Amino acid sequence: MSLLVMKFGGTSLATIDLIKKAAARVEAEVSHGYNVIVIVSAMSEKTNQLVGWVNDISSMYDAREYDAVVSSGEQVTAGLLALVLQENSIPARSWQGWQVPLKTVGSHSAARISEIPTDNLKSKFSEGMKVAVVAGFQGISSEGRITTLGRGGSDTTAVAFAAAFNAKRCDIYTDVDGVYTTDPRICDKARKLNQISFEEMLEMASLGAKVLQTRSVELAMRFKVKLRVLSSFDEQVTNTGTIVCREEDVMEKNVVAGVAFSRDEAQMTLLGVNDRPGIAAAIFGPLSVSGINVDMIVQNISEDGLTNMTFSCPIDQVARAQKTISKCKDDGELKFSKLLVDTNVAKVSVVGIGMRSHAGVAAQMFNALKVENINIKVISTSEIKISVLIDRKYLELAVHALHDDFQLEKSS
Ligand code: ADP
Ligand code: ASP
Ligand code: MG
Repeated sequence: MSLLVMKFGGTSLATIDLIKKAAARVEAEVSHGYNVIVIVSAMSEKTNQLVGWVNDISSMYDAREYDAVVSSGEQVTAGLLALVLQENSIPARSWQGWQVPLKTVGSHSAARISEIPTDNLKSKFSEGMKVAVVAGFQGISSEGRITTLGRGGSDTTAVAFAAAFNAKRCDIYTDVDGVYTTDPRICDKARKLNQISFEEMLEMASLGAKVLQTRSVELAMRFKVKLRVLSSFDEQVTNTGTIVCREEDVMEKNVVAGVAFSRDEAQMTLLGVNDRPGIAAAIFGPLSVSGINVDMIVQNISEDGLTNMTFSCPIDQVARAQKTISKCKDDGELKFSKLLVDTNVAKVSVVGIGMRSHAGVAAQMFNALKVENINIKVISTSEIKISVLIDRKYLELAVHALHDDFQLEKSS
């Protein structure tokens, strides 16, 4: 029997009516002869509310309890969707991460999937179960505690199940009808891509295009999962969405595939750092232990043995990062004169595999921002992306300017 994985995001399950609509899509696939594993997110905004409650208690919270709290939203939607399917006479059962069990390793709140044994679900399918509704985003550690896979982690649950069960396809149902050249919510000229390469999707996701979690794209690429992003709101049968596939299979060959951005960034600068071998390790080692996702780093040349070190991190990690750095200073492990924090920055990036063979993309990007009088604070590049940190108030302007300048509304 062929098996499909279907994943529904939070907005697609935000009300009982929408859960019924998602159930109808699942039933349609069952009527086509498939067994289905459905991966569900929590209802929209639920996880934000749960994270907010944890942060209200402490910014230095115990990540095991964070996971216990924030994983709960998916438990509710898994049960509700299974109930709707049962009401419609479809043999369905809900599964929590620990019941599968979806085994994880690594730190709480950012755990990685290590194994998904298939025997439990397979034996239920062979007994007549048609649909397994699995709570996304959550797993179990080797200590037997609930873990979560990082924000947006249900996408990764879905791809991992598709790989483990050798599913025919992994369909990610969301609130847009595919992957666009940039977020269609902030740029009305954004164009839907029929296909995007794994490499480009990986960069877009890691640079802020939250339509897919980065790790889900990595897994799909590694395990050759047929991955599709499509709308759960589109009534039309022609809703084919975007296929994420190998570079060789992409028909369109634009130098730049898209513009990604991350609004909630912060920039921290340590002034007057005592420059010596090991200084970067003394700063970024403790930050990493505290779970801070440091992104861009710039170290200035030193003068009189002193230097300035600037880095960026997500805005919600600033309090934790400040505490970590102050502790290093208090413990005498780090000497600097001042810590500057700017919580009004954002990151904007252009992404495209065409950059490998085309020079001048960086110059074009910098010029497009100059024309709009947007100051660049920090730059970082890789083979297929260029990212800059700018003032957040210019983010929309920058995205529009870059989208226009690289003519992304036109397909090649
Ligand atoms: P879900 O709840 O279904 O997981 P998400 O909110 O995580 O949905 O992701 C879908 C959102 O991603 C869209 O509503 C859109 O605003 C945003 N997004 C950002 N960049 C892009 C892009 N390049 N293409 C499509 N959507 C994007
Ligand atoms: N509910 C979780 C979140 O909001 C996981 C997900 O939706 O993928 O991050
Ligand atoms: Mg998501």
